[in-house]
Amino acid sequence: MEPVFAIKTINQYYTPSPEILCILSQFREMMNHCVQLGLAENLTSLKAFSLKAYKQLGKYDIMSYYKLCAMSAAAGILKNHRKAVRREEKRPTTTPYVRRLRLTTCYGFKIQNGFLLLPHRPKEPIRIALTQHVQASITGYEVRSVTLTEDKLSLAYAKQAVQIKPRGFIGIDRNLDNVTLAATNDSITVHNLANATIVKGIYRDVRSHMRRNDVRIRRQISGKYGRKQREKVKQILHQASKLIVQQAKQQKFGVVMEQLTGIRRLYKRGNRQGPRYRGRMNSWSYAELQRQIEYKARWEGLPVIYVRPHGTSVKCSMCGSRMARKPEENRQLKCPTCGVSLDRDVNAARNILARGVRFAPIALPIEAMLPEPERYGNPESRWKRVNLIGNPPTS
Ligand SMILES: [Zn+2]
Repeated sequence: MEPVFAIKTINQYYTPSPEILCILSQFREMMNHCVQLGLAENLTSLKAFSLKAYKQLGKYDIMSYYKLCAMSAAAGILKNHRKAVRREEKRPTTTPYVRRLRLTTCYGFKIQNGFLLLPHRPKEPIRIALTQHVQASITGYEVRSVTLTEDKLSLAYAKQAVQIKPRGFIGIDRNLDNVTLAATNDSITVHNLANATIVKGIYRDVRSHMRRNDVRIRRQISGKYGRKQREKVKQILHQASKLIVQQAKQQKFGVVMEQLTGIRRLYKRGNRQGPRYRGRMNSWSYAELQRQIEYKARWEGLPVIYVRPHGTSVKCSMCGSRMARKPEENRQLKCPTCGVSLDRDVNAARNILARGVRFAPIALPIEAMLPEPERYGNPESRWKRVNLIGNPPTS
């Protein structure tokens, strides 16, 4: 099997020295400078932008490593900005301006004897002590980039993972309050996320001091408040994604997930979510969970497949007909054609799995293939192994 390139990151807190704070604020200034230059002169080609920007950054008394990184960060911001302008033609888009102190560099740093050495003055690097945990995590890997904020540093490290030939697949369906897994060995696993602050807590908190003001919501998500909440949600998702990838690794299963197409579908997907704070938070957390599962799976050499999401929640996973919602039990779906009654999350996970297996680029051993829908017997007997992970739903 051919090797795949896999990346992981590891964080630690640190106290920045005055020199680091100076670099961080200069970096931010350079980024904003480049962004304004790119907008003012409408520089769309990367080459023209780089030539002009590099010249203008001459006045900054900082090593050129940082100039190059500030330029590439600015180029990214400009690209996203142009995309946003195209998308929201009718609404005015604000000029991008970076407020946060944040620096990513891929050049000039070194890891030596438990220290991170950052270029500062020629032959006088800045030294930051790495924690034991960070040192242990990166041992044996190549550190590709360093990201610094005012209080946190993060190292991205990489390896060539050997892709495993999967014995089967797991279809993953993320819902408002759980992640449901359906595997080719017929097992169903449900990871509960209901305890998460994810939906209820956040919504309650935010609603109490918020009115209908989209700008303010956006600020809260990107601001300090949103960051705190995101950290909490991330931790919960990390637990789930870790267990999911562990399970996949043990069984040598690849993972199948839905291709997220825009956030609109995500609003519709849950119950009564509006395009407000909760909706935004949720669509962010859907994408975050996928990101975590993908990089953890790649690290283990497990294949990751994305399938189109259309219809996975409404089609019958037995016969392919459109399901009807049972009015009295909103988690159950009934198929008018084959008569089966299924949990809506299990049904969706199985549809995702079936789609992935069909498009798997790797031929599976015969026993891992799903039977044809019409050959399914009584669904109750086929899906008896249901593992519940996490606390049971509270509401
Ligand atoms: Zn059916």
